[in-house]
Amino acid sequence: MTGPAMFGRYELIAELGKGAMGVVYKANDPMLSRTVAIKTINMDEAEQDGLAEFEARLYQEAKAAGGLNHANIVIVHDIGKSGNLVYMAMEYVEGGDLRDLLTGAVPLETAKALDIAAQIAEGLAYAHEHHVVHRDIKPANIMITPQGRVKITDFGIARMRLAESRTQAGVILGSPKYLSPEQVTGQRADHRADIFSLGVILYQMLTGHTPFNGDSLGALMYQTTNLDPPAPSTVNAQVPVILDYIVAKALAKAPESRYQGAAELAKDLRECSRRVAADAQASTDMFSGALPAAATTPPVEKTIPLGVRPADAGIATVPVSTRGVSRAFDSQEATQRLMREVGALEAQAVPSPASAAITIPTPVPLRALVKQGEHPWGQRENTIFAATVAVALAIAAAIVLA
Ligand code: ADP
Ligand code: MG
Repeated sequence: MTGPAMFGRYELIAELGKGAMGVVYKANDPMLSRTVAIKTINMDEAEQDGLAEFEARLYQEAKAAGGLNHANIVIVHDIGKSGNLVYMAMEYVEGGDLRDLLTGAVPLETAKALDIAAQIAEGLAYAHEHHVVHRDIKPANIMITPQGRVKITDFGIARMRLAESRTQAGVILGSPKYLSPEQVTGQRADHRADIFSLGVILYQMLTGHTPFNGDSLGALMYQTTNLDPPAPSTVNAQVPVILDYIVAKALAKAPESRYQGAAELAKDLRECSRRVAADAQASTDMFSGALPAAATTPPVEKTIPLGVRPADAGIATVPVSTRGVSRAFDSQEATQRLMREVGALEAQAVPSPASAAITIPTPVPLRALVKQGEHPWGQRENTIFAATVAVALAIAAAIVLA
């Protein structure tokens, strides 16, 4: 290990890694006898004439982040200066980051993806309530403990890095795949940019791929601002269709069409989690139960291999029968959606067009899934109405045919 053995009162134990802004160390705080992570920020990177301003802004950001105290956010303990290095003492987090779980381009188990996304949303909701926007939500900034607890890191300073790289080089450095349309086009970005970035992460966890790509920054910018990626359920059959709506609403191009608050997104993700778990339980009961057909049915081939990589091993997951989730949800949710479509058509007294046909187009563009202001869970009445109409029509048809 190179460098000094102390930063302020902190005794360095080991180097944890090198980041874009400097080295991160594991260290001991002898005053409170606790382990901390020391993130150093190399001031050489800042332009000399802007140095004082950069440093002042860094302290200001650290102050904002230092006021955050939430289970899903890495706590900032302290900030100081040693030589020309500014350092931050933070909560030391055991485990790895979300990047490690996504290296194989393989989807995570849906239940796990939902849990991780919900925890991120809950951390964001808290930060946003305290008027702190992250602006660089991406897998590298999402740490996950061996118990499965999510910790968002780099609040505030990630934003510094962005501002810095843009002013210095005129381009956005780092990984811009998670940035919102307003960020890649250099417009004003508020807390809803974090919601979009979380939408990108969720999409990647569900499908194994980021929704917006491109060989060049220009191509990526174009996709981020214009492309509607295929709905996750059309890429990974394990994903319930209702989750398509949630992802589409998080990834809406216009901030005003998105989830307006991370708490609302967290609520929908938790609700979806409950449904996935309940559905898995129901299918487990069914397949382990009395039905003779179930007992003789051989295991179904998987549509997409759900990766459980070594890095996942220590992380708690909700036990889910992957088979049951896709089956029951596919039929149940698809039926509800079709019912809604039919219900909406009847309500508007529009003659039945081709769009009411039973087939779901593949891939479904995400934008088509969320109309402005529409809430994924607010359609119950329509469903009941449509179901009633459908049953009545079926009885009528049976009578006529008989
Ligand atoms: P990046 O995320 O771009 O790799 P960072 O500077 O954020 O760079 O982190 C560098 C390394 O230090 C990463 O491998 C990360 O896992 C580790 N690290 C960062 N913060 C902490 C922390 N609070 N606790 C434990 N390890 C950390
Ligand atoms: Mg990081």
